[in-house]
Amino acid sequence: MSRASWCLACVECGASYPGLDVRYTCQCGGLLEVVHDLEALRARLSLATFDARLGSRAPADRSGVWRFRELVLPLETRELVTRLEGNTRLYDSPAIARYAGLDALLLKHEGENPTGSFKDRGMTAGVSIARRLGMTRVACASTGNTSASMASYAAAAGMRAYVLIPEGKIAYGKLAQALAYGAKTIQIEGDFDAAMKLVRQVCDAEGIYLLNSINPFRIEGQKALLFELLQDLGWEVPDWIVLPGGNLGNNTALWKGLSELHALGLIPRRPRLAVVQATGANPLYRAFVSGQDLVPVERPETVATAIRIGNPVSWKKSLRAVRESGGVVEEVTDQEILDAKAQVDAAGIGAEPASCATVAGARKLALRGVIRRSERVCGVLTGHLLKDPDVVVAYHRGELAGIAATFANRPVRSAATLEGVRGLLSE
Ligand SMILES: *Cc1c(COP(=O)(O)O)cnc(C)c1O
Ligand SMILES: [Zn+2]
Repeated sequence: MSRASWCLACVECGASYPGLDVRYTCQCGGLLEVVHDLEALRARLSLATFDARLGSRAPADRSGVWRFRELVLPLETRELVTRLEGNTRLYDSPAIARYAGLDALLLKHEGENPTGSFKDRGMTAGVSIARRLGMTRVACASTGNTSASMASYAAAAGMRAYVLIPEGKIAYGKLAQALAYGAKTIQIEGDFDAAMKLVRQVCDAEGIYLLNSINPFRIEGQKALLFELLQDLGWEVPDWIVLPGGNLGNNTALWKGLSELHALGLIPRRPRLAVVQATGANPLYRAFVSGQDLVPVERPETVATAIRIGNPVSWKKSLRAVRESGGVVEEVTDQEILDAKAQVDAAGIGAEPASCATVAGARKLALRGVIRRSERVCGVLTGHLLKDPDVVVAYHRGELAGIAATFANRPVRSAATLEGVRGLLSE
Protein backbone atom coordinates (compact mmCIF):
# COMPACT_ATOMS: atom_id res chain seq x y z
CA MET A 1 0.00 0.00 0.00
CA SER A 2 1.68 3.21 -1.09
CA ARG A 3 1.71 5.66 1.74
CA ALA A 4 1.23 9.04 0.16
CA SER A 5 -1.86 8.15 -1.86
CA TRP A 6 -4.44 8.44 0.91
CA CYS A 7 -5.03 9.33 4.57
CA LEU A 8 -7.81 9.15 7.14
CA ALA A 9 -9.50 12.47 7.92
CA CYS A 10 -12.11 13.46 10.49
CA VAL A 11 -15.43 14.49 8.98
CA GLU A 12 -16.07 16.83 11.93
CA CYS A 13 -12.82 18.73 12.65
CA GLY A 14 -10.73 17.86 9.59
CA ALA A 15 -7.81 16.38 11.57
CA SER A 16 -5.91 13.90 9.42
CA TYR A 17 -4.19 10.65 10.31
CA PRO A 18 -1.60 9.42 7.81
CA GLY A 19 -0.55 5.80 7.70
CA LEU A 20 -2.41 2.62 8.54
CA ASP A 21 -3.34 2.15 12.19
CA VAL A 22 -6.04 0.57 14.34
CA ARG A 23 -8.19 3.68 14.67
CA TYR A 24 -11.91 4.06 14.11
CA THR A 25 -12.73 7.62 15.22
CA CYS A 26 -11.00 10.97 15.61
CA GLN A 27 -9.64 12.28 18.91
CA CYS A 28 -12.64 14.66 18.84
CA GLY A 29 -14.98 11.67 18.57
CA GLY A 30 -15.91 12.35 14.93
CA LEU A 31 -16.14 9.67 12.24
CA LEU A 32 -13.17 9.17 9.97
CA GLU A 33 -13.13 8.78 6.23
CA VAL A 34 -10.50 7.83 3.70
CA VAL A 35 -9.33 10.77 1.62
CA HIS A 36 -7.63 9.81 -1.63
CA ASP A 37 -4.99 11.93 -3.31
CA LEU A 38 -7.11 12.69 -6.35
CA GLU A 39 -4.47 14.90 -7.94
CA ALA A 40 -2.05 11.99 -8.04
CA LEU A 41 -4.77 9.70 -9.42
CA ARG A 42 -5.93 12.11 -12.10
CA ALA A 43 -2.75 11.68 -14.11
CA ARG A 44 -2.87 7.90 -14.33
CA LEU A 45 -6.50 6.87 -14.12
CA SER A 46 -9.02 6.48 -16.92
CA LEU A 47 -12.27 4.56 -17.29
CA ALA A 48 -10.53 2.43 -19.91
CA THR A 49 -8.28 1.05 -17.14
CA PHE A 50 -11.36 -0.39 -15.41
CA ASP A 51 -12.94 -1.64 -18.64
CA ALA A 52 -9.74 -3.40 -19.73
CA ARG A 53 -9.83 -5.49 -16.53
CA LEU A 54 -13.19 -7.00 -17.52
CA GLY A 55 -11.28 -9.30 -19.85
CA SER A 56 -8.72 -10.37 -17.25
CA ARG A 57 -8.67 -13.64 -15.28
CA ALA A 58 -6.69 -12.28 -12.31
CA PRO A 59 -8.76 -12.34 -9.07
CA ALA A 60 -8.06 -8.68 -8.32
CA ASP A 61 -9.48 -7.76 -11.75
CA ARG A 62 -12.42 -10.15 -11.57
CA SER A 63 -13.61 -8.86 -8.20
CA GLY A 64 -16.27 -6.20 -8.68
CA VAL A 65 -14.60 -4.24 -5.90
CA TRP A 66 -10.87 -4.56 -6.59
CA ARG A 67 -11.33 -3.99 -10.32
CA PHE A 68 -11.63 -0.36 -9.17
CA ARG A 69 -8.82 -0.66 -6.61
CA GLU A 70 -7.13 2.70 -7.25
CA LEU A 71 -10.35 4.33 -6.01
CA VAL A 72 -10.98 1.79 -3.23
CA LEU A 73 -7.73 1.14 -1.34
CA PRO A 74 -4.34 0.77 -2.96
CA LEU A 75 -3.52 -2.60 -1.37
CA GLU A 76 -1.16 -5.04 -3.06
CA THR A 77 -3.20 -7.67 -4.85
CA ARG A 78 -1.65 -10.45 -2.72
CA GLU A 79 -2.99 -8.67 0.39
CA LEU A 80 -6.61 -8.96 -0.67
CA VAL A 81 -9.18 -11.17 1.04
CA THR A 82 -11.59 -11.51 -1.85
CA ARG A 83 -14.42 -13.82 -2.86
CA LEU A 84 -14.71 -12.13 -6.25
CA GLU A 85 -17.61 -10.13 -4.81
CA GLY A 86 -19.73 -7.81 -6.89
CA ASN A 87 -20.32 -8.66 -10.55
CA THR A 88 -24.02 -8.47 -9.73
CA ARG A 89 -26.61 -8.20 -12.47
CA LEU A 90 -28.50 -5.13 -13.55
CA TYR A 91 -32.09 -6.15 -14.33
CA ASP A 92 -34.47 -4.33 -16.63
CA SER A 93 -37.94 -5.62 -15.78
CA PRO A 94 -40.83 -3.99 -17.64
CA ALA A 95 -43.30 -5.46 -15.13
CA ILE A 96 -41.60 -3.84 -12.15
CA ALA A 97 -41.21 -0.53 -14.01
CA ARG A 98 -44.92 -0.60 -14.81
CA TYR A 99 -45.72 -1.23 -11.16
CA ALA A 100 -43.52 1.71 -10.16
CA GLY A 101 -45.12 3.97 -12.77
CA LEU A 102 -41.87 4.52 -14.65
CA ASP A 103 -40.90 3.97 -18.28
CA ALA A 104 -37.91 1.96 -17.07
CA LEU A 105 -36.43 0.98 -13.73
CA LEU A 106 -33.04 -0.74 -13.75
CA LEU A 107 -32.34 -2.81 -10.63
CA LYS A 108 -28.80 -3.65 -9.52
CA HIS A 109 -29.18 -6.86 -7.53
CA GLU A 110 -26.66 -6.78 -4.71
CA GLY A 111 -28.27 -9.90 -3.28
CA GLU A 112 -26.16 -11.72 -5.88
CA ASN A 113 -22.99 -11.13 -3.88
CA PRO A 114 -21.21 -14.16 -2.33
CA THR A 115 -23.12 -14.00 0.98
CA GLY A 116 -26.25 -12.46 -0.49
CA SER A 117 -25.95 -8.74 0.27
CA PHE A 118 -23.97 -5.62 -0.67
CA LYS A 119 -22.19 -5.91 2.70
CA ASP A 120 -19.62 -8.15 0.97
CA ARG A 121 -18.26 -5.14 -0.92
CA GLY A 122 -17.37 -3.35 2.29
CA MET A 123 -16.26 -6.51 4.05
CA THR A 124 -13.63 -7.49 1.48
CA ALA A 125 -12.06 -4.08 2.15
CA GLY A 126 -12.45 -4.24 5.95
CA VAL A 127 -11.08 -7.77 6.32
CA SER A 128 -8.21 -7.12 3.89
CA ILE A 129 -7.21 -4.16 6.06
CA ALA A 130 -7.59 -6.27 9.21
CA ARG A 131 -5.16 -8.81 7.77
CA ARG A 132 -2.80 -6.08 6.62
CA LEU A 133 -2.81 -4.76 10.21
CA GLY A 134 -1.88 -8.22 11.44
CA MET A 135 -5.17 -8.74 13.26
CA THR A 136 -6.32 -12.31 13.87
CA ARG A 137 -9.75 -11.58 15.33
CA VAL A 138 -12.63 -9.41 14.07
CA ALA A 139 -16.00 -8.46 15.55
CA CYS A 140 -19.23 -6.62 14.86
CA ALA A 141 -22.63 -5.95 16.37
CA SER A 142 -25.27 -6.76 13.80
CA THR A 143 -28.83 -7.82 13.21
CA GLY A 144 -27.90 -9.74 10.13
CA ASN A 145 -26.15 -9.16 6.86
CA THR A 146 -23.04 -7.54 8.29
CA SER A 147 -22.47 -10.55 10.53
CA ALA A 148 -23.10 -13.03 7.72
CA SER A 149 -20.61 -11.24 5.52
CA MET A 150 -17.98 -10.71 8.21
CA ALA A 151 -18.19 -14.36 9.26
CA SER A 152 -17.58 -15.50 5.69
CA TYR A 153 -14.66 -13.18 4.95
CA ALA A 154 -13.06 -13.88 8.34
CA ALA A 155 -13.26 -17.60 7.56
CA ALA A 156 -11.69 -16.98 4.14
CA ALA A 157 -8.84 -15.10 5.85
CA GLY A 158 -8.42 -17.70 8.60
CA MET A 159 -9.51 -15.27 11.31
CA ARG A 160 -11.75 -15.76 14.33
CA ALA A 161 -15.03 -13.82 14.11
CA TYR A 162 -17.29 -12.62 16.94
CA VAL A 163 -20.84 -11.45 16.37
CA LEU A 164 -22.91 -9.65 18.99
CA ILE A 165 -26.61 -9.76 18.22
CA PRO A 166 -29.33 -7.82 20.04
CA GLU A 167 -32.44 -9.31 21.54
CA GLY A 168 -35.50 -9.59 19.35
CA LYS A 169 -36.32 -10.83 15.89
CA ILE A 170 -33.47 -11.63 13.52
CA ALA A 171 -33.99 -12.94 10.00
CA TYR A 172 -33.30 -16.65 9.92
CA GLY A 173 -31.15 -16.81 6.80
CA LYS A 174 -28.68 -14.35 8.28
CA LEU A 175 -28.31 -16.00 11.67
CA ALA A 176 -27.88 -19.31 9.86
CA GLN A 177 -24.99 -17.89 7.85
CA ALA A 178 -23.12 -16.44 10.85
CA LEU A 179 -23.34 -19.81 12.59
CA ALA A 180 -22.49 -21.81 9.49
CA TYR A 181 -19.40 -19.74 8.65
CA GLY A 182 -18.16 -20.38 12.17
CA ALA A 183 -18.54 -17.01 13.92
CA LYS A 184 -18.86 -17.09 17.68
CA THR A 185 -22.36 -15.66 18.01
CA ILE A 186 -23.29 -13.99 21.27
CA GLN A 187 -26.83 -12.83 21.94
CA ILE A 188 -26.89 -9.75 24.18
CA GLU A 189 -29.69 -9.14 26.65
CA GLY A 190 -30.27 -5.67 25.25
CA ASP A 191 -31.11 -3.73 22.08
CA PHE A 192 -28.96 -2.92 19.05
CA ASP A 193 -27.51 0.22 20.62
CA ALA A 194 -26.43 -1.80 23.66
CA ALA A 195 -24.78 -4.41 21.45
CA MET A 196 -23.02 -1.67 19.49
CA LYS A 197 -21.64 -0.01 22.60
CA LEU A 198 -20.52 -3.30 24.04
CA VAL A 199 -18.74 -4.48 20.90
CA ARG A 200 -16.58 -1.35 20.89
CA GLN A 201 -15.62 -1.92 24.51
CA VAL A 202 -14.80 -5.56 23.84
CA CYS A 203 -12.68 -4.70 20.79
CA ASP A 204 -10.72 -2.04 22.69
CA ALA A 205 -10.17 -4.29 25.69
CA GLU A 206 -9.22 -7.38 23.68
CA GLY A 207 -7.40 -5.96 20.65
CA ILE A 208 -10.03 -7.31 18.28
CA TYR A 209 -10.57 -5.46 15.00
CA LEU A 210 -13.96 -3.77 14.81
CA LEU A 211 -15.87 -4.13 11.56
CA ASN A 212 -19.04 -2.21 12.37
CA SER A 213 -20.15 0.61 10.12
CA ILE A 214 -17.94 3.14 11.89
CA ASN A 215 -14.98 1.33 10.30
CA PRO A 216 -13.92 3.78 7.57
CA PHE A 217 -12.53 1.15 5.19
CA ARG A 218 -15.86 -0.62 4.61
CA ILE A 219 -17.24 2.51 2.96
CA GLU A 220 -14.38 2.39 0.44
CA GLY A 221 -15.38 -1.09 -0.67
CA GLN A 222 -19.04 -0.19 -0.79
CA LYS A 223 -18.32 2.62 -3.24
CA ALA A 224 -17.59 -0.06 -5.81
CA LEU A 225 -21.34 -0.74 -6.08
CA LEU A 226 -21.56 2.65 -7.74
CA PHE A 227 -18.50 2.14 -9.93
CA GLU A 228 -19.83 -1.18 -11.15
CA LEU A 229 -23.31 0.21 -11.75
CA LEU A 230 -21.90 2.98 -13.94
CA GLN A 231 -19.65 0.49 -15.71
CA ASP A 232 -22.76 -1.64 -16.42
CA LEU A 233 -24.31 1.48 -17.95
CA GLY A 234 -21.28 2.15 -20.15
CA TRP A 235 -20.44 5.04 -17.77
CA GLU A 236 -23.64 6.88 -18.67
CA VAL A 237 -24.90 8.69 -15.58
CA PRO A 238 -28.57 8.03 -14.71
CA ASP A 239 -30.91 10.74 -13.37
CA TRP A 240 -31.69 8.98 -10.10
CA ILE A 241 -30.31 6.27 -7.84
CA VAL A 242 -32.85 4.88 -5.38
CA LEU A 243 -31.82 2.79 -2.38
CA PRO A 244 -32.98 1.84 1.14
CA GLY A 245 -31.50 3.58 4.18
CA GLY A 246 -30.77 2.01 7.58
CA ASN A 247 -27.44 2.97 9.11
CA LEU A 248 -26.99 5.08 5.97
CA GLY A 249 -23.48 3.87 5.15
CA ASN A 250 -24.50 2.76 1.69
CA ASN A 251 -25.88 6.03 0.40
CA THR A 252 -22.91 7.84 1.95
CA ALA A 253 -20.59 5.46 0.11
CA LEU A 254 -22.35 5.90 -3.23
CA TRP A 255 -22.13 9.66 -2.96
CA LYS A 256 -18.45 9.53 -2.03
CA GLY A 257 -17.76 7.37 -5.07
CA LEU A 258 -19.76 9.67 -7.33
CA SER A 259 -18.02 12.74 -5.99
CA GLU A 260 -14.58 11.23 -6.53
CA LEU A 261 -15.37 10.20 -10.12
CA HIS A 262 -16.75 13.67 -10.73
CA ALA A 263 -13.74 15.42 -9.18
CA LEU A 264 -11.47 13.30 -11.37
CA GLY A 265 -13.39 14.43 -14.42
CA LEU A 266 -14.39 10.83 -15.23
CA ILE A 267 -18.15 11.60 -15.20
CA PRO A 268 -19.77 14.86 -16.30
CA ARG A 269 -22.37 15.10 -13.51
CA ARG A 270 -23.80 13.26 -10.53
CA PRO A 271 -27.28 11.71 -10.28
CA ARG A 272 -29.81 12.57 -7.58
CA LEU A 273 -30.12 10.20 -4.63
CA ALA A 274 -33.43 8.97 -3.24
CA VAL A 275 -33.04 7.26 0.14
CA VAL A 276 -36.04 5.23 1.27
CA GLN A 277 -36.80 4.40 4.91
CA ALA A 278 -39.54 2.37 6.55
CA THR A 279 -42.15 4.49 8.37
CA GLY A 280 -41.41 2.64 11.62
CA ALA A 281 -37.67 3.42 11.39
CA ASN A 282 -37.58 6.80 9.66
CA PRO A 283 -35.26 9.17 11.56
CA LEU A 284 -33.55 10.43 8.39
CA TYR A 285 -36.88 11.04 6.70
CA ARG A 286 -38.01 13.15 9.66
CA ALA A 287 -34.77 15.12 9.71
CA PHE A 288 -35.02 15.71 5.95
CA VAL A 289 -38.62 16.90 6.09
CA SER A 290 -38.24 19.04 9.22
CA GLY A 291 -34.84 20.51 8.37
CA GLN A 292 -33.79 19.75 11.94
CA ASP A 293 -31.05 17.51 13.33
CA LEU A 294 -31.76 13.81 13.50
CA VAL A 295 -33.80 12.65 16.48
CA PRO A 296 -33.39 8.91 17.10
CA VAL A 297 -36.50 6.73 16.80
CA GLU A 298 -36.92 5.00 20.14
CA ARG A 299 -38.37 1.61 19.26
CA PRO A 300 -37.82 1.17 15.53
CA GLU A 301 -40.19 -1.37 14.04
CA THR A 302 -40.48 -2.69 10.49
CA VAL A 303 -40.74 -5.99 8.69
CA ALA A 304 -37.59 -4.91 6.81
CA THR A 305 -35.16 -5.90 9.57
CA ALA A 306 -32.06 -4.73 7.63
CA ILE A 307 -33.25 -1.13 7.92
CA ARG A 308 -34.81 -1.37 11.39
CA ILE A 309 -32.39 1.19 12.83
CA GLY A 310 -33.46 4.08 15.05
CA ASN A 311 -30.14 5.85 15.57
CA PRO A 312 -28.09 5.67 12.34
CA VAL A 313 -24.34 6.22 12.66
CA SER A 314 -23.73 8.09 9.40
CA TRP A 315 -26.74 10.41 9.37
CA LYS A 316 -24.88 13.71 8.94
CA LYS A 317 -22.81 12.57 5.97
CA SER A 318 -25.88 10.89 4.56
CA LEU A 319 -28.13 13.93 4.79
CA ARG A 320 -25.43 16.14 3.33
CA ALA A 321 -25.10 13.71 0.41
CA VAL A 322 -28.83 13.67 -0.29
CA ARG A 323 -29.05 17.48 -0.17
CA GLU A 324 -25.95 18.01 -2.31
CA SER A 325 -27.37 15.66 -4.91
CA GLY A 326 -30.66 17.54 -5.09
CA GLY A 327 -32.26 14.33 -3.92
CA VAL A 328 -34.92 13.27 -1.42
CA VAL A 329 -35.63 10.99 1.52
CA GLU A 330 -38.92 9.08 1.29
CA GLU A 331 -40.72 6.76 3.68
CA VAL A 332 -42.81 3.68 2.91
CA THR A 333 -45.06 1.51 5.06
CA ASP A 334 -44.53 -2.21 5.64
CA GLN A 335 -47.59 -2.80 3.46
CA GLU A 336 -45.98 -0.86 0.61
CA ILE A 337 -42.68 -2.69 1.11
CA LEU A 338 -44.31 -6.13 1.03
CA ASP A 339 -46.51 -5.34 -1.97
CA ALA A 340 -43.48 -4.06 -3.87
CA LYS A 341 -41.61 -7.17 -2.76
CA ALA A 342 -44.35 -9.42 -4.13
CA GLN A 343 -43.87 -7.67 -7.50
CA VAL A 344 -40.07 -7.97 -7.43
CA ASP A 345 -40.36 -11.63 -6.43
CA ALA A 346 -43.05 -12.44 -9.01
CA ALA A 347 -40.87 -10.96 -11.76
CA GLY A 348 -38.55 -13.89 -11.03
CA ILE A 349 -35.91 -11.65 -9.49
CA GLY A 350 -36.69 -11.69 -5.77
CA ALA A 351 -35.11 -9.77 -2.88
CA GLU A 352 -35.33 -9.39 0.87
CA PRO A 353 -37.85 -6.91 2.32
CA ALA A 354 -35.45 -3.98 2.93
CA SER A 355 -34.37 -4.15 -0.73
CA CYS A 356 -37.91 -3.72 -1.89
CA ALA A 357 -38.25 -0.41 -0.09
CA THR A 358 -36.36 0.75 -3.18
CA VAL A 359 -39.20 -0.20 -5.52
CA ALA A 360 -41.90 0.96 -3.10
CA GLY A 361 -40.09 4.28 -2.73
CA ALA A 362 -39.55 4.75 -6.48
CA ARG A 363 -43.26 4.13 -6.98
CA LYS A 364 -44.25 6.67 -4.37
CA LEU A 365 -41.86 9.28 -5.75
CA ALA A 366 -43.17 8.70 -9.28
CA LEU A 367 -46.74 9.02 -8.01
CA ARG A 368 -45.87 12.30 -6.28
CA GLY A 369 -44.20 13.56 -9.47
CA VAL A 370 -40.81 13.92 -7.78
CA ILE A 371 -39.37 11.40 -10.22
CA ARG A 372 -40.71 11.95 -13.74
CA ARG A 373 -41.65 8.75 -15.53
CA SER A 374 -39.26 9.32 -18.42
CA GLU A 375 -36.24 9.88 -16.18
CA ARG A 376 -33.50 7.27 -16.08
CA VAL A 377 -33.83 5.56 -12.72
CA CYS A 378 -31.58 2.90 -11.18
CA GLY A 379 -32.54 1.14 -7.96
CA VAL A 380 -30.46 -1.02 -5.66
CA LEU A 381 -31.78 -4.36 -4.43
CA THR A 382 -29.61 -4.80 -1.37
CA GLY A 383 -30.19 -8.41 -0.27
CA HIS A 384 -31.22 -11.89 -1.42
CA LEU A 385 -34.77 -13.27 -1.27
CA LEU A 386 -33.71 -16.22 0.90
CA LYS A 387 -32.34 -14.03 3.69
CA ASP A 388 -35.80 -13.89 5.18
CA PRO A 389 -37.91 -16.85 4.05
CA ASP A 390 -40.28 -16.60 7.03
CA VAL A 391 -41.70 -13.29 5.86
CA VAL A 392 -42.25 -14.62 2.34
CA VAL A 393 -44.24 -17.65 3.44
CA ALA A 394 -46.23 -15.70 6.04
CA TYR A 395 -47.15 -13.02 3.45
CA HIS A 396 -48.37 -15.52 0.89
CA ARG A 397 -50.32 -17.41 3.53
CA GLY A 398 -51.90 -14.15 4.69
CA GLU A 399 -50.47 -14.65 8.18
CA LEU A 400 -48.69 -11.33 8.75
CA ALA A 401 -50.46 -9.28 11.42
CA GLY A 402 -51.74 -5.97 10.06
CA ILE A 403 -50.68 -6.74 6.47
CA ALA A 404 -53.11 -7.37 3.61
CA ALA A 405 -51.74 -10.12 1.37
CA THR A 406 -52.51 -8.06 -1.75
CA PHE A 407 -50.57 -10.23 -4.20
CA ALA A 408 -50.72 -13.52 -2.29
CA ASN A 409 -49.81 -16.76 -4.02
CA ARG A 410 -51.45 -19.09 -1.51
CA PRO A 411 -50.28 -22.68 -1.23
CA VAL A 412 -53.25 -25.06 -1.61
CA ARG A 413 -53.97 -28.69 -0.67
CA SER A 414 -55.38 -31.41 -2.84
CA ALA A 415 -56.44 -35.03 -2.58
CA ALA A 416 -53.76 -37.30 -4.07
CA THR A 417 -55.76 -37.75 -7.27
CA LEU A 418 -55.43 -36.61 -10.89
CA GLU A 419 -58.84 -34.91 -10.78
CA GLY A 420 -58.00 -33.17 -7.54
CA VAL A 421 -54.78 -31.63 -8.89
CA ARG A 422 -56.28 -30.89 -12.35
CA GLY A 423 -59.14 -29.10 -10.70
CA LEU A 424 -56.68 -26.72 -9.08
CA LEU A 425 -54.66 -26.00 -12.25
CA SER A 426 -57.29 -23.80 -13.86
CA GLU A 427 -57.87 -21.63 -10.76
C1 LIG B 1 -27.34 -3.15 5.55
C2 LIG B 1 -28.52 -3.25 4.66
C3 LIG B 1 -29.32 -2.15 4.33
C4 LIG B 1 -29.07 -0.80 4.88
O1 LIG B 1 -27.89 -0.20 4.44
P1 LIG B 1 -27.25 1.01 5.24
O2 LIG B 1 -25.92 1.22 4.66
O3 LIG B 1 -27.20 0.58 6.69
O4 LIG B 1 -28.19 2.17 5.06
C5 LIG B 1 -30.36 -2.34 3.46
N1 LIG B 1 -30.66 -3.56 2.96
C6 LIG B 1 -29.92 -4.64 3.26
C7 LIG B 1 -30.31 -5.95 2.69
C8 LIG B 1 -28.84 -4.53 4.12
O5 LIG B 1 -28.14 -5.63 4.43
ZN1 LIG C 1 -12.08 15.27 14.67
